[in-house]
Amino acid sequence: MQSPEAIKKYLALRDELDRHCASLYKLHASQLQCREGCDQCCMDFGIFPVEYFAIKEQAGSDLGKGQKPDSETACPFLVNHRCVIYSARPMICRTQGLPLLYMGEDGWEVSACELNFTNYDFEKFTGQNTFPQDKYNSRLYLINKEFIESLPGKPYQPLELIPMRKLFEEG
Ligand code: SF4
Repeated sequence: MQSPEAIKKYLALRDELDRHCASLYKLHASQLQCREGCDQCCMDFGIFPVEYFAIKEQAGSDLGKGQKPDSETACPFLVNHRCVIYSARPMICRTQGLPLLYMGEDGWEVSACELNFTNYDFEKFTGQNTFPQDKYNSRLYLINKEFIESLPGKPYQPLELIPMRKLFEEG
């Protein structure tokens, strides 16, 4: 029996992330080239089990609208340049196009899409105008841990990721 509490916590975190991203999309509107049909960020991401099960539940029959990916790294839910599980897509997909702040090997780093921020001075990125990836990932890690511990036999390791393609295969 999966933990409905952990799934609820995941959905609340995802809502919070959506609100945070919406404010950053607004802030950087003049730099962003993101538009329907641009799918360069899409790939077969690995996701935590709690996300896997939440997406499975929410997307339901839409999972069947995916298609067999034509490469090892392609996401099966990208069909004709559109995401067929858009409202249920994982958290990582919701941050696409934004400048992402994370702790790299040599300290804080920012990663930003090469199609956006073409004339932007990267020195101007701060903790306020970037998406704090590690902060959300840490919270997601804890929710996922709670989720795994609720499953009989704890069948996943705490850092284990499941490829999106499995959602398509198991539909
Ligand atoms: S789930 Fe949707 S948004 Fe995310 S990589 Fe796949 S097609 Fe792209």
